Amino acid sequence: MDEQPTLVVPYIVVLVLARHTNLWFESELPILIIDGARLLFAMQPLTTNTYKQTFSAAYLSLLESGELSRRRQAAYQHMEDCDLCARYCHVNRFKSIKGAVCRTGERAVVNSFSPHHGEENPLRGWNGSGTIFFSWCNLRCVYCQNWDISHKGMGREVEPEDIAEMMLTLQSKGCHNINFVSPSHVVAQIIAAVEIATQQGLRLPLVYNTGGYDSLEALQLLDGIIDIYMPDMKYGDARIARTYSKVRNYVQVNQTAVKEMHRQVGDLVINKQGIAQHGLLIRHLVLPNGLAGTKEVLKFIAKEISPNTYLNLMDQYFPSYKADEYSVLDRPITSDEYRIALALAKKYGLTRLDEIHQHHQWPTG
Ligand code: SF4
Repeated sequence: MDEQPTLVVPYIVVLVLARHTNLWFESELPILIIDGARLLFAMQPLTTNTYKQTFSAAYLSLLESGELSRRRQAAYQHMEDCDLCARYCHVNRFKSIKGAVCRTGERAVVNSFSPHHGEENPLRGWNGSGTIFFSWCNLRCVYCQNWDISHKGMGREVEPEDIAEMMLTLQSKGCHNINFVSPSHVVAQIIAAVEIATQQGLRLPLVYNTGGYDSLEALQLLDGIIDIYMPDMKYGDARIARTYSKVRNYVQVNQTAVKEMHRQVGDLVINKQGIAQHGLLIRHLVLPNGLAGTKEVLKFIAKEISPNTYLNLMDQYFPSYKADEYSVLDRPITSDEYRIALALAKKYGLTRLDEIHQHHQWPTG
């Protein structure tokens, strides 16, 4: 995109000069055709996915140096005494899934893959985000909206070659990125698939779309592979996380993980076409009755990560799965609850808010 003015201007000058020389009259048609074609070529960035030509995914250099292969081997070794997410089950996933909270062994289970037009604005663009939806999860949220996939494991077991093929299919459909949904427990399989797909032409940014309960061991394996981290920050109070997502120490684990993600990729960088290229994008789902600890979460993001953080402050909570067993979760949020969340973001100076998930036009307080 940046080169566009430097290309267009000289060709316009050439055309103008040619018009005032004999050359123009002797070979008018070829000049017109050649320079017209060059002019059109130079203007292509206005209408096409030129970010593909200018963007260079982080993992490409790791492939060339052989580091991607080393990371894959190391990640599979971690599965023998699994610490690939913050559950730290320490089971050998090659032998059994007994004791593995994620219920996932050597092979990943995939529910679906497709261009997704409901993701955040900088991810969905105009051709969609290339989502690969992994089955099972390392969290146990009682209000899970995808419980049949995340809790019941609906999907099919796949090899890394299959995941690589999905990525390349999504790339061929014009998706702006590859978006790994619920990836925390399948880090090794993802790295293996990225290695294969990159050898076969994968060039898109990789999005790690996580519930935010990630181990540092896994994040270090992903350093330089993932371009865009998109973690949830679900709670500001560990006791509430324990009750509603059945997880220990969520807040500390989550904050440590998000800090590491930000250290690796920095604030979200969006190109001139509005497409995210690399960086951190945080999601926070506002829950009824203040259960998400929105104030603590937003304060942490502003003070400990960056006030320039790109934030999706989500308002679409609705009771699902077992939410009706918990009276405090058994209703959508109110307009006042969301207004308060928006006001808190404003108070802490968080102004890079995604708009797509604000379904209601609720004014800021
Ligand atoms: S990925 Fe997490 S949940 Fe799954 S076995 Fe490893 S530590 Fe346990």
